[in-house]
Amino acid sequence: MQRSLNPVYVTISALEAGQITLPEPFFVAPADPEKRTLVPSLSFLIRHPGNNSSEITRIVFDLGVKRDLTGYKPAQQAHIANRQPVIVEPDCASSLRWGANKTDEENVKAEGGQLLDPSKDINIVILSHVHWDHVGTSSDFSSAVFAVGSGTLNVLKNGAGPLYPADMFNDDELPASRTVEFPPVPSLGGERSEYDTGPGAPEHTPASADTLARLPASSKEWSWQPLAGFPHALDFFGDGSLYVIDSPGHIYGHVNLFARIAENKYVYLGGDCCHDRRILSGEKGIAMYDDGKGGLRSVHMHTEMAKGTLARIGEFLKHTRNTADVEIVLAHDVYWREQNRHRFWPGKL
Ligand SMILES: [Zn+2]
Repeated sequence: MQRSLNPVYVTISALEAGQITLPEPFFVAPADPEKRTLVPSLSFLIRHPGNNSSEITRIVFDLGVKRDLTGYKPAQQAHIANRQPVIVEPDCASSLRWGANKTDEENVKAEGGQLLDPSKDINIVILSHVHWDHVGTSSDFSSAVFAVGSGTLNVLKNGAGPLYPADMFNDDELPASRTVEFPPVPSLGGERSEYDTGPGAPEHTPASADTLARLPASSKEWSWQPLAGFPHALDFFGDGSLYVIDSPGHIYGHVNLFARIAENKYVYLGGDCCHDRRILSGEKGIAMYDDGKGGLRSVHMHTEMAKGTLARIGEFLKHTRNTADVEIVLAHDVYWREQNRHRFWPGKL
């Protein structure tokens, strides 16, 4: 987090993108066996101001839940039945058009316009990962380039090991001709290299030159570099305003974002690094439950790697506590949502 003379800041707004119900025993330990919590599946609008040579860039991070649940495959729908109630309105596209609350919708409609048109005004969609509650309705973003973690297209086609078989994904979830995978993450050896190269590890899909040309010019220089204790961070715009953070463990290709929003003020978007703020604080642990095959599993594909990612985030927050204002928001952060209604689009963080 170096200082520069003319730092560039991005602007972040939270977006409602559906809600799902999490049975506590699958997510936190210790858990109340009966407790089920309705949580958001948040999206975020990120605006980069551009400079003399470039225009404002609008990014959406995660697309939440599909507004039409029949768009999921049968095996996904069977899984979603265990996450009911599921609330699909407002979805990400509707939140971009009309803002967070009804009053805005009525006002904006009365003025004959919408805030943002997802089909025209969003340049880039970044997905933290491709679980059903994050992929949303990609066809709404018909002019955007999709940027995802390395191996993601392969996961959509072949699944991600025994916990996440291929029928839990749609091969055509993303527009292949407009999708770019971030560069493969270098292995550090040990567990990391087993995760990256072991059985079921997905291969990187390279994008065509035409697709790559639609990304910001900085993408030509993209490479994973250490940043503040994170071994692999990618400077998205090349100006330190927005970093993609490799966050392994939840599922292949899982990434977080770290954004500079004002002088000494940062936001860390943690995706599904965990599903409950109390895990970050140490008050709860990651739930382990019967995998149906005589073993134990968690909601993370590789629980130990996910714990490593959480430990790095925890260390990072601890180390920056006295020097910078860093706010972390999780994709399913029900507590944050309740406390921050005013920071949903057109409001901001
Ligand atoms: Zn997930």
